[in-house]
Amino acid sequence: TVRTRFAPSPTGLLHIGNARAALFNYLYAKHHNGEFLLRIEDTDKERSTQQAVDVIFDGLAWMGLTPDEDPIYQSTRIQRHQEIALHLLETGKAYKCFCTQEELADMRAKAQVEGKPPRYNGYWRDRDSSEAPENAPYTVRIKAPREGETVLQDLVQGEVTVANIELDDMIILRADGTPTYQHAVVCDDHDMNITHVIRGDDHLTNTFRQLIIYRAMGWDIPNFAHLPLIHGPDGAKLSKRHGASSVVEFRDEGYLPEALCNYLLRLGWGHGDEEILSREEQIKLFDLDGVGRSPSRMDYAKLMYVNGYWLRQADDQRLVKDVVSRLSKNPELILDQDHQNRLLTLMPGLKERAKNLVELAENAKFIFAKMPLSFTEKAQKLLNEENCGMLSKLASQLATLTPFTKESINQFLHQFAETEALKLGKVAQPLRAAVTGSTMSPGIDDTLLALGKEEVLARLGAITN
Ligand code: GLU
Repeated sequence: TVRTRFAPSPTGLLHIGNARAALFNYLYAKHHNGEFLLRIEDTDKERSTQQAVDVIFDGLAWMGLTPDEDPIYQSTRIQRHQEIALHLLETGKAYKCFCTQEELADMRAKAQVEGKPPRYNGYWRDRDSSEAPENAPYTVRIKAPREGETVLQDLVQGEVTVANIELDDMIILRADGTPTYQHAVVCDDHDMNITHVIRGDDHLTNTFRQLIIYRAMGWDIPNFAHLPLIHGPDGAKLSKRHGASSVVEFRDEGYLPEALCNYLLRLGWGHGDEEILSREEQIKLFDLDGVGRSPSRMDYAKLMYVNGYWLRQADDQRLVKDVVSRLSKNPELILDQDHQNRLLTLMPGLKERAKNLVELAENAKFIFAKMPLSFTEKAQKLLNEENCGMLSKLASQLATLTPFTKESINQFLHQFAETEALKLGKVAQPLRAAVTGSTMSPGIDDTLLALGKEEVLARLGAITN
């Protein structure tokens, strides 16, 4: 079975490049009826707070990327990493290096003078440990091949070749006995039976180093797929100045998870012209063949378009919950169940008019507002003396309207306009301004219905008295 993994380091952020790697791992596994796993690379104890780990859990849960097994914490596996390093020592595939910091610095300086890249020169590779001072601290280094080349058949990048001379004998255990990142990743991927390592192409050079460990252990080598990075619209590395770049930011800015996933998938993965794909379709269609090799550019306008689509598809009850949670920071709003029901009634009209959840919440705010309402400039203008007089008349007639249904409201408004010899819009617009505080809302009939007669009359009363 195919087994993929997402292996983030808890940094406190889930960058969308990483989020996309998680999505691709998930989709690849599901497409092949396989399993998607999560490994928290928490060996940097200072950064790996519970809060930073929760950012990853929350982000994945929000995107609907549930791992098939409990997460593995890399920090709990140090003993196993050490055991494997010792095995490599015993089998002569690795060796102890007693070089001091000064010696290593000299080596680097010398290489620089000679115009060579700073590499470890293999000083202890063929020396006996007995030559070292007693009780001297040592690191464990792997014996890298010194001749030939290493060829990687990458599932995205194609064939990539590196001359082995480029790779020095890297450290697998530090002097304090802790494993290095390169070593831990290989041990963990092996023990987790990972068949496909799908990650950012910033890890491509690491892969060549990691291959040395696989070969030294005689382990099966997984397939590798290195994904190009996501750039900003201007082609530079995506960063804050371009806009949202982490999952929490996209959520806060009002994107739906299905929209973000849909967009991230289509970004740099070719599949005809169909922009909109459900999760089922994504699983059915996704494969690594379609992933391009060059960096993709983030297109916030397109994401917004995709978001609008998924917003209109979203379940009304779910949107009510989201809006209420976004508005809950406003102490002056009345967010009780009764008011939430009013929002639910109006949701079909509201979600047609919003591009994201922030806008949706903003447009829904009037439903929960206490009196006096605040008015937009345009709304204020409409509430001139003449219109207020008209609305006062309207209010007194509306008070007797029963039943209060969409049909009866419509009929009433038409009749009222006719009697007043006004176009319907000349009645509806000031009325809308009076009861919502703005000049934009769903249909006036739906708006009145959602607010309820009592609330409508109260709001009209507040501006006509
Ligand atoms: N922990 C690494 C990172 O967050 C990823 C390691 C991997 O995918 O192999 O960049």
